Amino acid sequence: MHDDTHPADAWGLDTRAIRTGHHRTGEQEHGEPIFPTSSFVYESAAEAARKFGGDEPGNVYSRFTNPTVQTFERRLAALEDGARCVATSSGMSAILATALALLEAGDEIVASRSLFGSTVSLFDKYLGKFGITTRYVELSNLEAWQAAITPATKLMFAETPSNPLSEVADIAELADLAHGHGAWLAIDNCFLTPALQQPLALGADLVIHSATKYLDGQGRAVGGAVVGPDTLLEEVFGVVRTCGPCLSPFNAWIFTKGLETLGLRMKAHCANARQLADWLEAHPAVERVHYSGLASHPQHALAARQQRDFGAVLGVEVIGGREGAWSVIDATRMLSITGNLGDVKTTITHPGTTTHGRLSDDQKAAAGIREGLIRVAVGLEDLADIQADLARGLDALVR
Ligand SMILES: *Cc1c(COP(=O)(O)O)cnc(C)c1O
Repeated sequence: MHDDTHPADAWGLDTRAIRTGHHRTGEQEHGEPIFPTSSFVYESAAEAARKFGGDEPGNVYSRFTNPTVQTFERRLAALEDGARCVATSSGMSAILATALALLEAGDEIVASRSLFGSTVSLFDKYLGKFGITTRYVELSNLEAWQAAITPATKLMFAETPSNPLSEVADIAELADLAHGHGAWLAIDNCFLTPALQQPLALGADLVIHSATKYLDGQGRAVGGAVVGPDTLLEEVFGVVRTCGPCLSPFNAWIFTKGLETLGLRMKAHCANARQLADWLEAHPAVERVHYSGLASHPQHALAARQQRDFGAVLGVEVIGGREGAWSVIDATRMLSITGNLGDVKTTITHPGTTTHGRLSDDQKAAAGIREGLIRVAVGLEDLADIQADLARGLDALVR
């Protein structure tokens, strides 16, 4: 029987990305449909009562049951090899929904120091208001994680590899540590996506996504998701259902179609990034390239073991400090000067004055954000054109 409604466990990643999640309707459509509807109608009062009461499965209201959103959720769950996925309106609301679902006043989070800036604000400024405190540790230092854990620790949270310096944490070790202390481990898998890293298979309890980045891959929409076991995801679902940070059907459809080319795009992103990293590392205006795909990276072996490839975000330290970095950025004519990443378009930014601009000088020093650091999120343009755009400013620095 032809049945593409159930993810076949034996299927490879690309097949899952293309073939899972869609429950075909009576219209016999080939492509995945969009259901732009807020509510659903019933044959009778009795059917409505059964649907609302949960006695009968089915759609009720698009804050928590929309077929287009569910297609995306099933497909991403299949890719992460998770039992269940809940989609959210953004990556930030995925993290918020996870925290609201799992934590209460008095609980503690231990998190890596190099986190997305808004995640730090969410933890400190907003969760802090409700009596949840967060301790930050060096991502790759297992002893530091261990030392920060207390009996109140409920959640460990990390991004690996980190942005923009590509530090790597051993997910299996972090998971063992968390579970030994009765805590959960959540991994923000934004930078590698399930095409390159599957944290659940390594022992993590939850995977967080900003779908805004590579899952879409073309910079079209904002969204997020949480993936993990049924027990935990039922709690996350409850938060989204009640508090309302739900994904729109239009955006869910964009992400669903984005996933179809995820494997292909990530291969191409990584190939461009690897070659660009080699070229940059050899350029006389470049002091250091931070990329876990380079043999010079201190955790290259761990990254090679844990990841299928190394992603496409490069930290590039140039000579001349901030002035040097800004001159390289300003000499580009094609690259997009923006803080976003995960797009077919290559982006370039100066972390010290943009994404990490709110950190104090001490915090920047602790996080390794130097004045000469540039972040390049490598896109899918021709490598020669990306190189030529960067060479203009880099060559001028050594002339
Ligand atoms: C962008 C990003 C987020 C937040 O996602 P939004 O979709 O912008 O809300 C969270 N984590 C990481 C690593 C990100 O890059």
